[in-house]
Amino acid sequence: MPELPEVETTRLGILPWIVGKKIKKVIIRERQFRWKIQDDLEKKLEGKKIQSIKRRAKYLIFDTDYGSAIIHLGMSGSLRIIKDTEPPNKHDHVDFLLNNGMGLRLHDPRRFGSLLWTKDVSSHFLFLKLGVEPLSEDFTETYLNLKAKKRRIPIKQFIMNAHIVVGIGNIYASESLFHAGINPKTQTGCISRKRFSILVKSIKNVLESAIKAGGTTLRNYYKTDGDPGYFKQYLYVYGRKGKPCHICKRKISSITIGQRSTFYCKNCQH
Ligand SMILES: [Zn+2]
Repeated sequence: MPELPEVETTRLGILPWIVGKKIKKVIIRERQFRWKIQDDLEKKLEGKKIQSIKRRAKYLIFDTDYGSAIIHLGMSGSLRIIKDTEPPNKHDHVDFLLNNGMGLRLHDPRRFGSLLWTKDVSSHFLFLKLGVEPLSEDFTETYLNLKAKKRRIPIKQFIMNAHIVVGIGNIYASESLFHAGINPKTQTGCISRKRFSILVKSIKNVLESAIKAGGTTLRNYYKTDGDPGYFKQYLYVYGRKGKPCHICKRKISSITIGQRSTFYCKNCQH
């Protein structure tokens, strides 16, 4: 599943091909996504110039001279740059063809993603209740400390709550807690400010290094074999149950928190 770093890497990868270009034609071969694509989306976008591509949580926002398209990649979605003559493969559901002979193609086998249009992103229902961006200056230990007061939930569930902070999926939650030395079961209200400060740094580092790792795959956004180009990165705990901890060599443990599998080192995380 594309997580925040993959979405950000996608944004950086497609940006140079697309910003400043006009959308000549929109081809929609399948409208049934998480939400049905609105009937007049083609009309809303054709002839418009793409001014910028922004990211909020795991949404990509394509601002045009009038309105914005919002894309979410869901469980299995990917975007890539094509030549406008390239025939579609299976699950290539949407193309934005541009005025430079290129295009942007949305591929999504499971169709849990979405493509929406709005006149005003700031008031769109998707964004109203979202927490802060983890890589922004708003995400600090002061903020976490304030939100954590009186909460009695495991810290892992807390940092995965999009009303608190967006875009920290299961993999990155486990990895960040490992690097911060915090047991994922620890009750949020019991964590000191100092430990929150370490956790904030650790979350930012884990996400930033994943984005950096993804940077080496940027060329994959323009290729023809349909591989989404997601990247593997070096994981310390996630998916490593029973394997030796990279720091202390003891076995990595696995438990379930909030119905999500959680990996940690009992020795390194308290
Ligand atoms: Zn360890």
